[in-house]
Amino acid sequence: MEVCVHTNDKKYELKPVEASLLTSSLTAVISHATKPDDRALGSRIWDDAETVYWKQESSYDFLTPGQQTNLVKLAFLEASMETPLVIRRRRRSTADAKIKVNWLGGADVTFFKDSKGTLAFAYGPAQGIGGDITMNSDNLWLLRKKPLTAVEAFEKGYIDDYNRSYPNNTIKFYDPLHTMKHEGGHAIGLRHLTDTALRYLAIMFPYYSGLRIFGDADKQYLHDLYGKASVNHKIKEIILGRIRLF
Ligand SMILES: [Zn+2]
Repeated sequence: MEVCVHTNDKKYELKPVEASLLTSSLTAVISHATKPDDRALGSRIWDDAETVYWKQESSYDFLTPGQQTNLVKLAFLEASMETPLVIRRRRRSTADAKIKVNWLGGADVTFFKDSKGTLAFAYGPAQGIGGDITMNSDNLWLLRKKPLTAVEAFEKGYIDDYNRSYPNNTIKFYDPLHTMKHEGGHAIGLRHLTDTALRYLAIMFPYYSGLRIFGDADKQYLHDLYGKASVNHKIKEIILGRIRLF
């Protein structure tokens, strides 16, 4: 089986994984797969008009619960808009949630501890199993555009200490919406788009670009897999505006 690993040298790689490297909950999911190889990405799993539910199972300290919910909603919004798939949040039972979203760190996931600099990983779906997304909560994920100084990061509790001689050093952080959307693409079955011309034009290109809106190639891929939904152009623009400003 394959997993998409997103590392902080800005590359995404597809790697084979051993079940032993994963959390117990993920291992449990895998052990239910009768044909683990079917989890390979790139195939359409769900029917056109199927409702795919997602459920968040763990949380992240530096984003509010509302931000975390909106993050996943916005990550799947464009796929819902472009295809007949309906991707919705499941609040109560996890029983029929096909996509599980987790925020876990090296203390929870051996895989994160062993792969320093890994930002996230995701599985594609298979028959009877959803795709899963796990964000590495040991990294700093913030919804902000302006650079973050060491002194501000310390005051907000993002870092435990800083070099007092350099309070204005910038602290690295990542855009969670870009990564959630890339990993979310895998969770509904998309593989990478590897044409280098798409480096800054496609969310599914295997590189952390910070893009938040699907490029033409991403959309074409979604349409090829699930078919195309007709959404009014004006409504689309209004919705995409929300994603850009979030
Ligand atoms: Zn990927």
